[in-house]
Amino acid sequence: MTSALQAAHLRLPPGPVDLTAIDSGATPGVECGKKDGKAALVALGDELSDLQERLFAEGVADIGHGRAVLLVLQGMDTSGKGGTLRHTVGLVDPQGLRISSFKKPTKEELEHDFLWRIRKALPGKGMIGVFDRSHYEDVLVVRVHELAPKREIERRYDAINAFEAELAGAGITLVKCMLHISADTQKERLLARLDDPTKHWKFNPGDVDERAHWPQYREAYEIALERTNTEIAPWYVIPSDHKWYRNLAIGELLHETLTNMNPQWPAADFDVEEQKRRLAEEIPVK
Ligand code: AMP
Ligand code: MG
Repeated sequence: MTSALQAAHLRLPPGPVDLTAIDSGATPGVECGKKDGKAALVALGDELSDLQERLFAEGVADIGHGRAVLLVLQGMDTSGKGGTLRHTVGLVDPQGLRISSFKKPTKEELEHDFLWRIRKALPGKGMIGVFDRSHYEDVLVVRVHELAPKREIERRYDAINAFEAELAGAGITLVKCMLHISADTQKERLLARLDDPTKHWKFNPGDVDERAHWPQYREAYEIALERTNTEIAPWYVIPSDHKWYRNLAIGELLHETLTNMNPQWPAADFDVEEQKRRLAEEIPVK
């Protein structure tokens, strides 16, 4: 079973963004509930895996003009970036993935332009790159906590658009996902982490402090989403209060993206019959 969910259901329309008007508990494009939604993701896995392998094969054969995909996962703590990696991204061959998590920048990273560390993490040809947080932190947490001068933050929106246009020009298809959860959902998930000793490693007391800045984060997201929602690198807002929906929606987005790219199995650059003959005629290997 597959769902009727399409990228169009999730695409953020151009113009001003009001996240309070987007229901984080909705399931756009999907009629079913959790059980069938989970089954739909499993059903999608084989096709996703096949498309990814074709893309990878194109990269190895050096055809397809060095194409790649870059999935950007942005969201507040507990929005499910890790869960998406495990349940959706995990459906494809790990050899074809390049996963990068962006944390608080190191001293060396801070000495460079904010895109320096991002450039070093880009997917090579045939790969699916995944960013768990991204260059958007440099206009989100940095804006909320005034970690850079106002003028520098202002400059970054255009710098991001120029950078992403450059990536698109180089054959990298961007899929930018904002994992949208409510403050209540975050509270529930943080409490669940505290109730489960096997989840304590994921808990950071600082996350509770960050919750106090929820309205400032929402505003920073709204500004960033509006200013970087370009034709070439559009934003998708994924209602993420339901984990199963989030996983399925991002799976469908990846599937649609890869289907549109239509990667092809490379033709052999050798004579297949000749190679069969050589194997048939060889002296037995002891
Ligand atoms: P986590 O994703 O939960 O492991 O946390 C990573 C932390 O690094 C988050 O609190 C991010 O806001 C923070 N972080 C990521 N990128 C930056 C950045 N460019 N500047 C400051 N903090 C960042
Ligand atoms: Mg965290």
